[in-house]
Amino acid sequence: MTYQNFLAGRWVDGDAALAVEDPATGQTVAEAPLAGEATVARALEAARASADRGDLAAMRPQARADLMRAVAREIRALAVGGAPLLSRESGKRLSDARGEFDEAAAYFDYYGGLADKIEGKHIPLGPDYVDYTVYEPVGVSAQIVPWNFPVSLAARSLAPALAAGNAVIVKSPELDPLAMTLLARALQRAGVPEGAVSVLNGLGREAGARLVAAPEVDQIVFTGSVPTGQAVLRAAAETVTPALVELGGKSAAVVFEDADLDTLMHSVRGGIFFNAGQVCSAMSRLLVHRSVYARTVEACAALAKGLKPGHGLDEAEHTPVISAAQLARIEALMPTARHDGAVIAAGGARLDRPGHFMAPTVIADVLPSARVAQQEIFGPVLCVTPFDTEAEAIRIANGTEFGLVAGVFTRDLSRALRTAHRLRAGQVFVNEWFAGGIATPFGGIGKSGFGREKGVEALYNYVRTKNIAIALHG
Ligand code: NAD
Repeated sequence: MTYQNFLAGRWVDGDAALAVEDPATGQTVAEAPLAGEATVARALEAARASADRGDLAAMRPQARADLMRAVAREIRALAVGGAPLLSRESGKRLSDARGEFDEAAAYFDYYGGLADKIEGKHIPLGPDYVDYTVYEPVGVSAQIVPWNFPVSLAARSLAPALAAGNAVIVKSPELDPLAMTLLARALQRAGVPEGAVSVLNGLGREAGARLVAAPEVDQIVFTGSVPTGQAVLRAAAETVTPALVELGGKSAAVVFEDADLDTLMHSVRGGIFFNAGQVCSAMSRLLVHRSVYARTVEACAALAKGLKPGHGLDEAEHTPVISAAQLARIEALMPTARHDGAVIAAGGARLDRPGHFMAPTVIADVLPSARVAQQEIFGPVLCVTPFDTEAEAIRIANGTEFGLVAGVFTRDLSRALRTAHRLRAGQVFVNEWFAGGIATPFGGIGKSGFGREKGVEALYNYVRTKNIAIALHG
């Protein structure tokens, strides 16, 4: 099968091709098209024209809502073929790939439901005036997507942007762009106006950098790593373009002595080993009260050692990381952990098999200052640290430059809430990692970025306020 870029309602060949690899085998899945300079320029021109014509903005809001729901239906229909493709190109389990398509569809349903509820305000200025605010679409939204959840993260920004009436250009991640083609097909089949959306694949330093520097763009939405986010913000500063950046994390779960071990282990399984730990909001640190520390480390190590590796299409318990480079980066951090005084309780090296498999890893006795406790690893690696007091736990949890999510495990409600309020994070989970969903605002503090995605709040990223002040005595 040949893949193309979706350029303003039409399918066009790539200007170059890039082999997309199956991370579980190292074999090529297909060649992805790369959008070069001229293709990006055409998408920018089409998006600008669509925004200026108001293709989506001028639709009746209820019609836009119907359109969003039609996109959701098309995504669900395409998931049957899309999920295996996503599983192959990203390495993730088939059920998780399916879950990504379901989540993408859910974003379109959710923001479709809000498309006709973007209501302004009347502001009283006395009897001689009428004053009101309206929310206008921002115009052209350029959205850059990372590889860990390409389909659902693309939908996370695309759905509210379209629901609010914008034109959008999405740049898919070069490592696993194939399934995103189906997202474009769903938009096309649902009848999104030509020009209102382009989905391009291209290299970050070329297509991505070109997009974020473009004067045609009214807004940048970036999800990815801190260094790239910083480059994007520098580009945005040049053109004074508003940018929303959702970056990395080093999120900690605080486990008090009364926490239920089974509940906790369920969250550890999902929190750090789901998607081979390649989750921005992964539970990458576990801070455990000293009185239950030894048995918790033991349970985590047993869990990690018991996970059977294999192909995502076979629903293996443990799947590969995305690339050889990512595996090498993760593995290179292991000696630093030992050097910093930690103990590898499980894993700690790549698995001896084809593909890019890092063993599920548990590192115990990690000092809060250790490199593995400070740096985002983005792999199946859990760092465990003991604490003695609540204040110490909060200090350690808050002691990185990130602040994406955090967690508290305790049966004591007062302590749970007290701790949740003191944790420096955009979202805090109590007794279940990843509690929350598409309706709950999500985003970071510090180097985890700023702005909030998901929920009603995120819709307002994609509009700007205009005030109309009318004198009645003129
Ligand atoms: P990355 O920063 O390498 O790439 C992200 C995207 O940016 C890709 O599409 C890439 O092509 C593009 N890009 C690269 N250079 C660019 C440039 N100069 N200008 C514009 N675009 C450019 O990130 P990644 O490795 O794909 O993703 C992993 C990172 O993403 C992790 O740090 C993870 O924590 C983060 N992430 C954050 C969230 C969140 O919501 N906070 C969600 C998922 C992933």
